[in-house]
Amino acid sequence: MNADYDRLAALNKDHLWHPFTQMKDYTNSDPLIIERGEGVMLYDIQGRAYYDGFSSVWLNVHGHNVPELNQAITEQLGRVAHTTLLGMANVPAIELAEKLAAITPRQLNKVFYSDSGATGVEIAIKMAFQYWHNRGIRGKTTFITMNQAYHGDTIGAVSVGAIPLYHDVFRQMLFPSHIIPYPYAYRHACGETEALEATLTALSHLLQTRADEIAALIVEPIVQGASGIIVMPPGCLRQMAELCRKHGVLLIADEVATGFGRTGAMFACDLEAVSPDLMVIGKGLTGGYLPVAATLAIDEVYDAFYADYHEQKTFFHGHSYTGNPLGCAVALASLKLFEERSMIEGVRAKASFVERKLAALKDRPHVGEIRQQGMMIGIELVRDKESREPYDWAERIGVRTSLQARELGMLTRPLGNVIVFIPPLSSTEAELDAMTSILTESIISVTEDGRAS
Ligand SMILES: *Cc1c(COP(=O)(O)O)cnc(C)c1O
Repeated sequence: MNADYDRLAALNKDHLWHPFTQMKDYTNSDPLIIERGEGVMLYDIQGRAYYDGFSSVWLNVHGHNVPELNQAITEQLGRVAHTTLLGMANVPAIELAEKLAAITPRQLNKVFYSDSGATGVEIAIKMAFQYWHNRGIRGKTTFITMNQAYHGDTIGAVSVGAIPLYHDVFRQMLFPSHIIPYPYAYRHACGETEALEATLTALSHLLQTRADEIAALIVEPIVQGASGIIVMPPGCLRQMAELCRKHGVLLIADEVATGFGRTGAMFACDLEAVSPDLMVIGKGLTGGYLPVAATLAIDEVYDAFYADYHEQKTFFHGHSYTGNPLGCAVALASLKLFEERSMIEGVRAKASFVERKLAALKDRPHVGEIRQQGMMIGIELVRDKESREPYDWAERIGVRTSLQARELGMLTRPLGNVIVFIPPLSSTEAELDAMTSILTESIISVTEDGRAS
C-alpha cells in the first residue's frame, strides 16, 4: 500500500458509485485502481500487472495504448474535438459511415450514430416503430425478444431485455414485449435439436397469429452474451430471419457484443449470411477506445422517413455527442488495423488455439460446459456434472473464480456461474497461453479445493 493508493481508495469509496456493483461488498474490499495499459496488459496504481482477460468488458480489440489509435485521436484533436451532427457534418463521421456501410451486410447503407450500445438499441427500436407509422401501417407497435436477452440498460433497451435479475424490478415502467425461448441446449431437457425446434416453433406461431401487431424482432445474433455466452445451434439465426421476412416483421441484429471480429467473422450475421433490417454496433467499434455506437438501417427503412418537411416523418432523435469526431477517427484507424493485420483470419487461428488449450478443462468435475464462438468463451461451472445441478448463486462461484484469476494476474468478470474469457483480439498465442493457464488454474483451485465440491 502506498500513500497515493490509500488516498485514491478513500476517495473512490466516498464518491464513486460503480455500475453493476453491490457497493456494500465493493467498499469492504481493496479496490483495483488501474493506472495504465500496454497491449493486453493493464497495470494498477501499485504497479501490479494483469492480463485483460475480458477486454475491459468486451470492448478492447487491438490492445491498450496502441500507437496507431493514439495517433488518430491526437491528429483529430489538433483539428477539432467535437462538433454536432444536427443538420451539419464532420469529416471522420462521413468517412466512417461510408466504411461501415461497406463492411456490414449489403443492404445496410445508412448510419445513425449514438454513444453507447443501449442508445443504439433505443434508436433501432424507435426507428422500427416509426417505420411502420410513417408507412401508414397502424398497429405494428410491439417487439419480440428472446428469453434472457440483454440489450443495454436504458428503459427501451430494458423493455426488450429478459434477464429477470436485472429487469424485473423495473417491469411496471416498461413496455411489454413478446418473449420467445432462447435455444440454450445445455439447459434444455432434450438437447440442441429440440431447443432449436422450440425457438422456431414459438417464433413461427407468434408471427402467424400476431405479425400485424409486431414491429420487429430483436436478437443477439449467434451468441447471447450477458446471459452467459450462449451459442445458438447452427441455422437458428438464418431460420429466424427467414420467418421475419416471410411475415413482414423487421429484424434488428444487436451486434454490440458480437461485432468487429469477436465471433470469427466481422459480424455474427455474416456467419449465416443474414442481412438484418437494422443493426446495432458499439463496444469494439472504436477498438474499445471511445464511446461511439451506431444503428445501421437498410434503404427501405430510411426511405420511410424521407419525405416532405410538412409530412413530419423526420426521425426526431439525437444525442449531444452523436458522431463525435474523435471517436469516429479512432474507429476508422481501428478498421484500418483490421485490414492491415488480417484480424479476422487471426481470430479464427487464435480461437482454435484457445479451444485446444481449454479442452483439458472439459473433464474437470465442476466444468459443465465450455462454450466458444471465436474469441467469446463462457465456461459454465456446475455443482454436479452428471445432473448439471447449478451452484447456488449465494456461493458466488463465478466471483470467487474471477478473484482467484486476479490474484494470479488476469482480470475477468463472471456472469453468474459462467466464467467469461473474452481476450483482446490482438492477443498473441503466448499471451493466450498464459491467460488460459491462469483461467484453468483458477477454476481448478476454486472448484476442487474441497469447499465447493
Ligand atoms: C453491452 C451490450 C449492450 C449495451 O451496450 P452499452 O454500451 O453498455 O450501453 C447492448 N447489447 C449487447 C448485446 C451488449 O452486449
